[in-house]
Amino acid sequence: MDTEMFDLLVIGGGSGGVRAARIAAQKGARVAIIEGGDLGGTCVNVGCIPKKLYSYAAHYAEAFDEAPGFGWSISEKPKLDWERLKANRSKEILRLNAVYANLLHNAGVVIITGWAKITSQSTVQVNGVDYHTKTLLIATGGTPMLPRIAGVEHVITSNDMFDLNAFPKRLLVVGGGYIACEFASIFNGLGAQVTQLYRGEQILRGFDDDVRQFLASEMRKSGVDLRMNSDVSSIVKSEGALTVTLKDMQEIEVDTVLYAIGRIPNVQGLGLEENDIKQSADGAIKVDDRYQTSAPGIYALGDVTARIQLTPVALGEAMTLVDHLFGKNQMQMDYDFIPTAVFTHPNVATVGYSEFTAQEKYKKIRVYRSEFKALKHTLSGSTERSMMKLIVDDATDRVVGLHMVGADAGEVIQGFAVAMKAGATKAVFDGTIGIHPTAAEEFVTMRVAIES
Ligand code: FAD
Ligand code: NDP
Repeated sequence: MDTEMFDLLVIGGGSGGVRAARIAAQKGARVAIIEGGDLGGTCVNVGCIPKKLYSYAAHYAEAFDEAPGFGWSISEKPKLDWERLKANRSKEILRLNAVYANLLHNAGVVIITGWAKITSQSTVQVNGVDYHTKTLLIATGGTPMLPRIAGVEHVITSNDMFDLNAFPKRLLVVGGGYIACEFASIFNGLGAQVTQLYRGEQILRGFDDDVRQFLASEMRKSGVDLRMNSDVSSIVKSEGALTVTLKDMQEIEVDTVLYAIGRIPNVQGLGLEENDIKQSADGAIKVDDRYQTSAPGIYALGDVTARIQLTPVALGEAMTLVDHLFGKNQMQMDYDFIPTAVFTHPNVATVGYSEFTAQEKYKKIRVYRSEFKALKHTLSGSTERSMMKLIVDDATDRVVGLHMVGADAGEVIQGFAVAMKAGATKAVFDGTIGIHPTAAEEFVTMRVAIES
């Protein structure tokens, strides 16, 4: 069976795909989107959204502990109802799936359900039906990578964590990136006994070294057994537990092993090779600065191109591509000063360069750093501390790096990212009046540079 000719056929109904399809349709293009799983993709179903909901759940544990310092009596020890949390999360995600379907439907996008295979440069097959298109967009995202170890069949990935049957009382998390740190923090907060193993010297490679050290120390203080230079050798399942043997021959007994060691592009069975769509060694689809793949008329963006794997980046790329194809052809995605947050407890957020990278990039830098106990914790009894850091290019006075470890760091840094994108200098920061009493005011009151 054959169908009509579309102007744009999008494979993948995640962050990038949905945005591209919707905006292209709003610009008058005839668009269809193909999704094999749930609309909304990784972010909505097994990523940003459920993760942040569980992070909120975990923060309640801190709030219960801290409440007596503010005069509250909590007569009974609060208890987590894992089943209720899962059910409420699931209800919200189903609502979001429907919101996405409505948005697409209202924009006039045809939604095709099933797994797509590219059969020619203008044809995609889904469930035996050929769909024809003038342009094709691949936005198929990524999937968790698994390790090559004995007992790999006993490990799970972030995809499985949200709906675990039983709450993992003893959880081993392997990895030191975004997902490993976030899940270690969240499940520690929810009441699990968490051990986290990282193969290198310090978690969150690529982030500012001060941030990495500070976060590691805060995570340990909050109860995560965080071990560096440590990795798994094998896993054996025994009655009611998993016995994990480490490379140094130590053994740990846990209920669940979560592997969070990076994600690989979702390209299996897509028909890339047959259609001359070139990939890099890690499987990512190669694109130029206009998201054009090596095959004419076929574009790719988001996690499947494995550049910066963040939802707002996939959204920005989608907006840019649609402008190129169906708009004024004026937009250019700027990959500089992309802010990002890691939803650990406490949060990390950052925009711009780490001290190390800035040192390599600029002749001379100035570094400002502040570490303190947040006002809230003067009564809460919590020993949590916050850290803020500014990196300034000495020649231009421009603030080129801004880092925070502390409560709601993501919320704080989003606004500063606008200032940095606009090229704000340290003098502009100094001339900005703070909001008192907040933690964020520290960013406009740091006056004395430290030895860098
Ligand atoms: P995806 O959202 O992954 O969408 C791809 C879609 O394509 C999927 O729905 C898939 O089913 C579909 N698909 C694949 N192959 C086919 C096929 N052959 N046919 C039909 N459909 C297909 N980013 C943030 O910015 N903030 C966060 O807090 C954050 N938290 C995260 C937490 C976790 C646990 C994870 C895993 C990721 C997180 N991310 C976060 C990253 C973010 O989710 C991704 O960067 C984003 O979803 C990428 O969007 P995408 O459109 O490229 O791909
Ligand atoms: P990351 O790339 O962030 O981290 C992977 C971690 O696993 C690193 O610590 C890496 O170590 C380690 N690792 C890699 N291979 C192995 C191995 N074979 N054995 C042991 N350890 C290994 O990937 P994630 O899976 O955490 O997340 C994927 C991406 O999703 C992130 O990079 C981010 O872009 C996005 N994301 C964003 C979030 C947010 O915005 N808050 C939240 C979650 C995900 P090493 O450093 O030594 O290479």
